[in-house]
Amino acid sequence: MKPLPVFLAALGCAAAVAQTIPDTHEKLMPTLWVQTSVEWRALAVQAYRTARTSLDAALKEKRWTAALEQSGFYRKLPPAIILDIDETVLDNSPAQARQVLARSGFTVEGWNEWVREAAAEEIPGSSEFCRYAASRKVTVFYLSNRDAGSEADTRRNLQRLGFPLAEGTDTVLLRGEKPEWQSEKTPRRRMVAERYRVLLLVGDDFGDFAAGVRTGVEQRREISSANGERWGKQWIMIPNPGYGSWEGALLEPERPMTPLEQLWKKETWLRTK
Ligand SMILES: [Mg+2]
Repeated sequence: MKPLPVFLAALGCAAAVAQTIPDTHEKLMPTLWVQTSVEWRALAVQAYRTARTSLDAALKEKRWTAALEQSGFYRKLPPAIILDIDETVLDNSPAQARQVLARSGFTVEGWNEWVREAAAEEIPGSSEFCRYAASRKVTVFYLSNRDAGSEADTRRNLQRLGFPLAEGTDTVLLRGEKPEWQSEKTPRRRMVAERYRVLLLVGDDFGDFAAGVRTGVEQRREISSANGERWGKQWIMIPNPGYGSWEGALLEPERPMTPLEQLWKKETWLRTK
């Protein structure tokens, strides 16, 4: 048999490579999991049912507080809960789906466009839970690292979905509304804790609960273990497989990395045993 011309052999190689490494995107599977699976929906509903049970217990137990920032004589303060917004009460998976289809990463422009649309649907179970809390005279705070400039669009989105928004108090606390309100949420939690007894924290990211979580994998686990009793009681976590501060913990924060370097670095964390 005549040997294949060189260029045809090269084409064959390319086809073999294409079969083993399909054209895909890191966000494809997490986005599909959120958008189509019963499993993700059930986890969210389960989390918000747990939150409701905890809220009832917390209202009766005056020593109960969820905020590490709570101090002093807080037992007689009026009750409040603090929820994160993105991937905690609002489902932004369509914004991630757009990245998958465009084969692009996160961009500020793309994100801002999505926020302006105010088109996010709710995380299953979240608005019903928040309305229940409000019906029990618990003030509902939304503490988010969305930019302060997006407050009107964010409120419009929350309002359309029936989330309680208190009158007379700013309960939508966004990043940059005050100079000290940066992505670390501690100062905002402290501010709420000075005026309210914080019954619950609900979030999708460790930073929604504790300070100093933008660190390494092991250190994050230590902070979590030190507060291990809080999970499922004062602290309710919503599953977000798409992104979070856990991802930064895998990388090397001291130097910028290309997307390919980031992928390689993440692969070094895979356990095969
Ligand atoms: Mg979030």
